[in-house]
Amino acid sequence: MPIDIEQLESFLAHTRQAVLVGHFNPDGDAVGSVTAFWHYLNRRGVPARIILPSPHPDNLAFLEPEEEKILICEQNPEEARRLVAEADLLVCLDLNRLSRTEYLEEDILASRAQKVLIDHHIAVELDRFDLVYTTVDVSSTCELLYKILLAMPDIAGDPERIPLRCAESLYVGMMTDTNNFSNSVFPGTFEMASKLIARGVDKDGLQEKVLSCFTVSRTRLMGHLLKDKMVILPQHAAAYMLLTNEEKGQYDFKPGDSEGFVNLPLAIEAIQISALFTENFDGKYVRVSLRSKNAVNVNKLAVRFFNGGGHRNASGGRLYMPVEAIPAYFEQALDAYTDEEKFS
Ligand code: 5GP
Ligand code: MN
Repeated sequence: MPIDIEQLESFLAHTRQAVLVGHFNPDGDAVGSVTAFWHYLNRRGVPARIILPSPHPDNLAFLEPEEEKILICEQNPEEARRLVAEADLLVCLDLNRLSRTEYLEEDILASRAQKVLIDHHIAVELDRFDLVYTTVDVSSTCELLYKILLAMPDIAGDPERIPLRCAESLYVGMMTDTNNFSNSVFPGTFEMASKLIARGVDKDGLQEKVLSCFTVSRTRLMGHLLKDKMVILPQHAAAYMLLTNEEKGQYDFKPGDSEGFVNLPLAIEAIQISALFTENFDGKYVRVSLRSKNAVNVNKLAVRFFNGGGHRNASGGRLYMPVEAIPAYFEQALDAYTDEEKFS
């Protein structure tokens, strides 16, 4: 995919204040991409701020630049709105729709800034941005951003010229969005990993910080869900688990603790689809995470039944119903999901 950076270059040349925005419930790719781009802009002397709609998990906190405190919109909405209103360049990363910023959609639309989107999901809102970089043929937004950075004149295709902190953030986004290089991996993904390691990224150190960082209670919660909560639906080759606020209290739940749980049932040979339903802390909705093995598409399931979307094998959404109603709803959704959608 040829990357045209002429327009981005021209935006950057005129930028006095950039604001980088990730998605609600930010994951490694969201935090990785906003911080990676921040480090790049910082070295170029382009002033930039970072806004995340809600807090990132603790294990990603080390990605926060020493020189830039990430603004969490949920904790400081007025300041977030002011930053968006005052920016002359807004860059949204790892989100396909402005509604994924949760609180900032109207403010971003109203802003007179140039708006850039860098994202790897399907169905991006093309008409709401002045410049869009999008492809689904990459592992992560971080992989797409890496390609954009290589095309920049000051980097000129040489990964050695990527600032080390930027390279670390890019690596984390790619590592987490591929579930440590097990899904959504393209030839370019390994190529990028190899180049970043040669650049000086400490692969083992990052893996330990991000993936081997959990508490005893988180590990026990995982055991509880697998042993007592996993329901198998053999007729649909599906499994699901439901995590309630009561259980979160019992297991001292912290943001990010359930990261990866939804993948676990896919290790069962007979399972093609896995779902994790998590009651939101305010009880107002239930978060839905869906995963599938390669042959099966869960994106259409997320769009049609779960008010969401995402990727072919990893999607998510929300349900506005009591937790007790979820098992029957999930089964009905699977009953209604046609083979045509499922294997598309
Ligand atoms: P996760 O299960 O890790 O929360 O989300 C997996 C993927 O599903 C994310 O990378 C994102 O693409 C998508 N996703 C998650 N939640 C939502 C949602 O509420 N709306 C949409 N459109 N996509 C979502
Ligand atoms: Mn992503």
